[in-house]
Amino acid sequence: MGNIKTIGILTSGGDAPGMNAAIRAVTRTAIYRGFRVMGIMRGYYGLVFNEIEEFTSKSVSNIIQQGGTILKTARCKEFTTAEGRKTAYENMQRAGIDALVVIGGDGSLTGARIFAEEYDIPIVGLPGTIDNDLGGTDRTIGYDTALNTIIDAVDKIRDTATSHERLFFVEVMGNRAGYLALNGAIASGAEAAIIPEMETEIDQLADLVNRGFRKSKNSAIVLVAENPTTGGALGLAQRIKEEFPEYDARVTILGHLQRGGSPTAADRILASRMGAQAITALDEGQRNVMIGIKNGELVYVPFSKATTHTRNIDLEGIELVKMLSI
Ligand code: ATP
Repeated sequence: MGNIKTIGILTSGGDAPGMNAAIRAVTRTAIYRGFRVMGIMRGYYGLVFNEIEEFTSKSVSNIIQQGGTILKTARCKEFTTAEGRKTAYENMQRAGIDALVVIGGDGSLTGARIFAEEYDIPIVGLPGTIDNDLGGTDRTIGYDTALNTIIDAVDKIRDTATSHERLFFVEVMGNRAGYLALNGAIASGAEAAIIPEMETEIDQLADLVNRGFRKSKNSAIVLVAENPTTGGALGLAQRIKEEFPEYDARVTILGHLQRGGSPTAADRILASRMGAQAITALDEGQRNVMIGIKNGELVYVPFSKATTHTRNIDLEGIELVKMLSI
């Protein structure tokens, strides 16, 4: 698109491993293609409060292996108001920014959609969240690293679970989706996964206990997606205490350690491909789309679709966990 000269880049919402690899790819591809790049600090906060600096190829040196985001990230209340977005637009204009690349989750992309509707700004999004809960893409940047962190933790918990003959509930992140819990359970050999997508199907806890895991096993690990509908690990442990007091249940909440760490090869490659594609998209005149990946191919997903979470998790995975944990 001939009239874009300067591209602004920001990371917003929860951080995810691989965001730095994406920042690097966006910056270097843009510079390679002759654009100027402006780094916007702390997500939309930096647009509203004018924390913007020019990025060179060197600004993104030595970051591909780092978790977190060198641009920092924030949740910005001001940007959710029309007045805040007006200030953001004025600051963008003052900095000479003609287009934006926004890396973040559903909230960040919703903000991008609203901003692009109000002002005539081309925006391309990248799915940056460990939760894998965006529409129109098979994978989000950070998901694979978080999954590997989870299985590493569960492997360690397994040692103590086996030694003490206990039932362990391990709570993992995932926001609206059960991908981390389900695929974490498959990859760590857990006895069950309790996920929001199943909440109306069966009483997953009763199902686990009624399967009588004690008949053949002395310990069990259950991965629980953090979500009000699953009851969380603490809620499930409380139920065990009340309904199945013969079991000794323990809880581990993995929390923010799932967000950290050096990105895996898969996340670095995904972020690099998507980051480069974001610049191609702007160059082609695309706007208001997120870069997604479907069956290995990069695709353009309208923001409205990206932010609509479809419950397309493969529930056969639940059966697989059951079958493989006999
Ligand atoms: P994660 O999936 O890791 O939580 P996220 O991108 O969904 O990341 P949010 O906190 O939901 O994180 O959103 C990040 C920021 O995006 C918000 O702090 C706000 O500045 C902006 N944002 C979210 N929703 C809106 C909205 N409806 N209108 C304008 N801006 C929004």
